[in-house]
Amino acid sequence: MKSYLVSKGDFLELIDGMIENGKEVVAPVKQENQANFKRIKSTKDILWSGPQTVISPKGFVFPQEEELIEYEVEDGIWVGSKVEAKSTVLLGIHPCDINGIALLDKVFAEKNLDENYLKKRESATIIGVECLTPCSPESFCYRKGSVLPWDGFDLFLTDVGDDFFVEVGSEAGKTLISGISRKTIQSDAKKLKKIREKRDNLFAKKQRKLKPKLEELPKLLKENYDSPIWDERGAKCFGCGSCNMVCPTCYCFDVRDCVEINLKKGSRSRFWDGCMLTDFTRIASGEIFREERGARLRHRTNRKDFYLFEKWGRTFCTGCGRCGKACLTKIVDPLDIENELYGRKGRR
Ligand code: SF4
Ligand code: SF4
Repeated sequence: MKSYLVSKGDFLELIDGMIENGKEVVAPVKQENQANFKRIKSTKDILWSGPQTVISPKGFVFPQEEELIEYEVEDGIWVGSKVEAKSTVLLGIHPCDINGIALLDKVFAEKNLDENYLKKRESATIIGVECLTPCSPESFCYRKGSVLPWDGFDLFLTDVGDDFFVEVGSEAGKTLISGISRKTIQSDAKKLKKIREKRDNLFAKKQRKLKPKLEELPKLLKENYDSPIWDERGAKCFGCGSCNMVCPTCYCFDVRDCVEINLKKGSRSRFWDGCMLTDFTRIASGEIFREERGARLRHRTNRKDFYLFEKWGRTFCTGCGRCGKACLTKIVDPLDIENELYGRKGRR
């Protein structure tokens, strides 16, 4: 992977210039005492470090609500698919969220290509930023091997003082900084190594530990399919679905048709859905396959660190900590659950 140095002043000037020319640039900004992704008017608005945003940036490539098809019936039937995408720069994306998007890239490009997702994804330039301190007490990205991006970014910035150390992940990223970058030399790479060692030590000290080994999580969850933990924790669940909504790797959606009263026009849209919600498994006859909240919690956890981990060879929980923070009854955090399962087996 190619790396460059770019002075912070030059980089911010580049982005401000893009904003002035009408480019949509989205970055984390402060919102009351929290953080959220918003379109920015100036790089001065960017929250470079601080709490993780309440919602991940996945909505910019996979919106919460998205019209897929509009149709009109005249003499025959006309069906038009609707694929919309706006060129957007997603700036200041943390490694856990870059990894979340990298996982969605796999899912939406599997077998039936999801045109809507892929078009939006192609139109997004992802500029990540390295976290040098943990963003919140709930995060555990270091334990999930997600403290650096796996894939899926155009540029990745690390603060090395007056400059950003910039790792380039795509041709588009390289072109973007071509006029303002200089090549790194050995001493720059050494400086970066030292910064990352310090960061690793800090994260290892501050973030909660994962007791089982990361690669053993699928086996642990498989063995504990019938654990009483699921019902114990599930008894405290409100079924609110907040844990699904905030998660960067949850990608389930519901599809709804809306037909005009004259039956001549209509549209089909998709909306985020969540496996913790009652209606998620409700079928036409009214039956619900996964009625028990404990069973839903088991399913959610297994999706993250068993089924999809086994299928794709990577955890589907990037350790962002959002679900643990969002859950009012504090039952959903995957690291907590996995540590409890591991502890109950009498292992240390
Ligand atoms: S399961 Fe929770 S901690 Fe893991 S990626 Fe999703 S929201 Fe973040
Ligand atoms: S686990 Fe927590 S956040 Fe998720 S549905 Fe239940 S109460 Fe809501």
